[in-house]
Amino acid sequence: MRWNLSPDDLPTAWFNVAPHLPAPLQPPLHPGTREPVGPDDLAPLFPMALIAQEMATEPTIDIPGPVLDILRLWRPTPLVRATRLEEALGTPARIYYKDESVSPAGSHKPNTAVPQAYYNKAEGTTRLTTETGAGQWGSALAFASTVFDLECMVYMVRASFEQKPYRRVLMETWGAQVTASPVDDPGHPGSLGTAISDAVRDAAGRDDSHYSLGSVLNHVLLHQTVIGLEAKEQLRLAGEHLPDVVIGSCGGGSNLGGISLPFVPDEGVRLVAVEPASCPTLTAGSFDYDFGDTAGLTPLLPMYTLGHEFVPPPIHAGGLRYHGDSPIISSLVKEGRMEAVAYPQSKVFEAAIQFARSQGSVPAPETSHAIRAVIDEALAAKEEGADRVILFNYSGHGLLDLSAYDDFLHGRLTD
Ligand SMILES: *Cc1c(COP(=O)(O)O)cnc(C)c1O
Repeated sequence: MRWNLSPDDLPTAWFNVAPHLPAPLQPPLHPGTREPVGPDDLAPLFPMALIAQEMATEPTIDIPGPVLDILRLWRPTPLVRATRLEEALGTPARIYYKDESVSPAGSHKPNTAVPQAYYNKAEGTTRLTTETGAGQWGSALAFASTVFDLECMVYMVRASFEQKPYRRVLMETWGAQVTASPVDDPGHPGSLGTAISDAVRDAAGRDDSHYSLGSVLNHVLLHQTVIGLEAKEQLRLAGEHLPDVVIGSCGGGSNLGGISLPFVPDEGVRLVAVEPASCPTLTAGSFDYDFGDTAGLTPLLPMYTLGHEFVPPPIHAGGLRYHGDSPIISSLVKEGRMEAVAYPQSKVFEAAIQFARSQGSVPAPETSHAIRAVIDEALAAKEEGADRVILFNYSGHGLLDLSAYDDFLHGRLTD
């Protein structure tokens, strides 16, 4: 039921999807000139190594040794077959998941936090700023910063800062400083867009600081491909050839990209993005150039977007409340290589409870979006009497999201 790789089997190079995309990515644009941004435009915010990865065209990029040493604290992660869920559903489908919840921060996010902290340290930066929604990304970067001895300043969406104190405590435990965003408007509940503006403004104004983003950008998805690379190897050990379908929840696209990008060249493998019906970027947004933040400080990115001023309702899957999406994921959806579905949160929590009561583990609300789609795929396979191999990303656990379960179990959760 579980396939583990040894620490020596950790991939030593990331998978770059750029040469495999059905259409070349459009470049990010400078908001003033609408010309493609160059490395110098990005240098106040990011180290050169990450800027190079953002634009890289080579098929693989080596993972630095010090990064591998840290990733080996929890990687390779297990591939698990959800046999008890299969039995509960009575499906002929075989359901496998990659368990990214075993990382120190409890999600996939340290896979990119660690290399981002490493490259910043290597180029002389001593302080990182970032945004966080419910706190998953902030805690991942706080962990990575302490490992490489960097200061870490986290702007946390105010609604979460006030309602969900435990992620803040986790960040502070790893030595980060955490403040509520927007900093200049204490009555505003905040959003990922406002928090990105605060973090970018901070980093751009100080020589010792860089900014770090937990999703969306090409280098972030690149770092997450260790998930899909390991999964391919583990599926082989499980006696499977290729999955029929690969599923991930999609906020900015990093956990989905991590598990699915290594399968882009495998024609016939369906790739599915799952998003909330209340923040339906891929299923109801338009493909356009838009800012990554609310204040309009970032370059313009080619992506599906609901508009940078869109403030999503305060659903429990805070990590999926983003107006835009990764340009890579957006391009795959636009070109028809990836599908997208949206679910209301009540259907998502029904799936989460079914998973917890069959498999035991309690998934994060974000992860539960993927589980909803997995269950529906498995039920469709049952209807059709079809043999089907489903792979999904168990992006994180929900042990710091129990207030959401409390709301669902006691009838307080609305769509
Ligand atoms: C942040 C987060 C997500 C959503 O972000 P992506 O960049 O789309 O992966 C999903 N699941 C968990 C557990 C998260 O913490």
